[in-house]
Amino acid sequence: MPSGQSQKGLLFVISAPSGCGKTSLVERLIKICPGLVRSVSITTRKPRKDERTNKDYKFVSKATFEKLKKSGKFLEWAKVFDHYYGTSREFVNKWIKRKKDVLLTIDVQGALKIKKRRPNSVFVFVLPPSRDELKKRLKKRKTRLTIAKWEMSHTKYYDHRIVNDKLHLAARRLKTIVLAERRRTKMVKDK
Ligand code: 5GP
Repeated sequence: MPSGQSQKGLLFVISAPSGCGKTSLVERLIKICPGLVRSVSITTRKPRKDERTNKDYKFVSKATFEKLKKSGKFLEWAKVFDHYYGTSREFVNKWIKRKKDVLLTIDVQGALKIKKRRPNSVFVFVLPPSRDELKKRLKKRKTRLTIAKWEMSHTKYYDHRIVNDKLHLAARRLKTIVLAERRRTKMVKDK
């Protein structure tokens, strides 16, 4: 049994290349699957229209991010599309101790760091319906397409892969994974 795992919540790590609809998917999952807490990442990028601080992200300056990084506040961090993103160690630990399952939506670099630091986490990769569809969704955003291809070459490091063809179906697939992982952990505990 993974030490300490059974008394605490699980950590779910979801990665999806840009253009795969991860935000809507995760929002839908949270609605249909009780007991999940979405980690609010810290970023140096500017808020987009409709984004709210402390709900979508905590938006900070580069200097603040550096300070947090130096004082070990991040469970992982990465530079994505010229901006910095990090997961708060305190946030994750607090909810996991409270037996909540925590959901991180982070890029592949960050997921690989979590894999080393928290190997008992559950890793899910969200794929586009096809490469052509991804190309269509990312048209004119060549850099994003290159990064998306690089990310998709790392799916082997993930425990589960799902295709986001139709949002409601993909959310249900994700929920099935969450429920199966909860059951599996409980069975290990009860053995
Ligand atoms: P966006 O700025 O479009 O919301 O996110 C850009 C990328 O950064 C996405 O791949 C997203 O999953 C990733 N990301 C968001 N938060 C974090 C984080 O805390 N850590 C890492 N490593 N990536 C993150």
